[in-house]
Amino acid sequence: MRFDVLTLFPSMFEAVLGESIIGRARSRGIITLNFINIRDYSEDKHRRVDDYPYGGGKGMVMQPGPIYNAYKSVVEGLEYKPKVIYLTPQGKVFNQAMAKELAKEKHLILLCGHYEGVDERIIEEIVDMELSIGDYVLTGGEIPAMAVIDAVCRLVPGVLGNEESFKDESHYSGLLEYPQYTRPPEFLGRRVPEVLLSGHHANIEKWRKEQSILRTCSKRPDLMDKILLKEKKEQI
Ligand code: SAM
Repeated sequence: MRFDVLTLFPSMFEAVLGESIIGRARSRGIITLNFINIRDYSEDKHRRVDDYPYGGGKGMVMQPGPIYNAYKSVVEGLEYKPKVIYLTPQGKVFNQAMAKELAKEKHLILLCGHYEGVDERIIEEIVDMELSIGDYVLTGGEIPAMAVIDAVCRLVPGVLGNEESFKDESHYSGLLEYPQYTRPPEFLGRRVPEVLLSGHHANIEKWRKEQSILRTCSKRPDLMDKILLKEKKEQI
């Protein structure tokens, strides 16, 4: 799977996406990440990419021209149109179901805004989808883009060692994951639940399922309500 990120700060990305699981997937050729500096596509002699908002007001707005040129440099010569995602606090709030859908794409372009955001006309011209990572405002789209890339990439086949490892995870089925334990069997007087030491796979599976339901009810009752509503709808 390929990602092209249009950003004013390409150097922010390597520290996060050059390491660990995503870094390994890149060196194995499963994932390709390109970070394109929008400033390189400015036609201004001072490489300017932003300007004052028409109508007045605080802050600067990213001009459409350099973003469009950067976008063109990615899509030129392609025989398909990659989906373009603008990271913005005005977008739909990103979740695991969206990550699952996006992991089916072969190529995504992510646009990171900065300052007051981007000129509306570039959104109209090239953007297919607007995604937010939550109802709060960050200084730029780089952290949201990294979050989306990380969440999507780990669902791409071959990125995680064992495909099963994300299927039990929180949000995959709608429930939160059961509690996890590792050695030692006792820590500060707290013992690992006996069932996990029993080696009885059916009992372990049953316990984990119950724990998933219990903790979803206590930590995220809103998710449990969604699951119950979905089940009710399916019965109708
Ligand atoms: N003026 C914009 C507004 O009120 O909608 C906010 C601009 S924000 C300071 C600058 C950039 O950060 C945005 O263009 C966007 O790319 C990114 N950004 C900020 N918060 C975000 C969030 N919650 N999710 C995704 N991107 C975000």
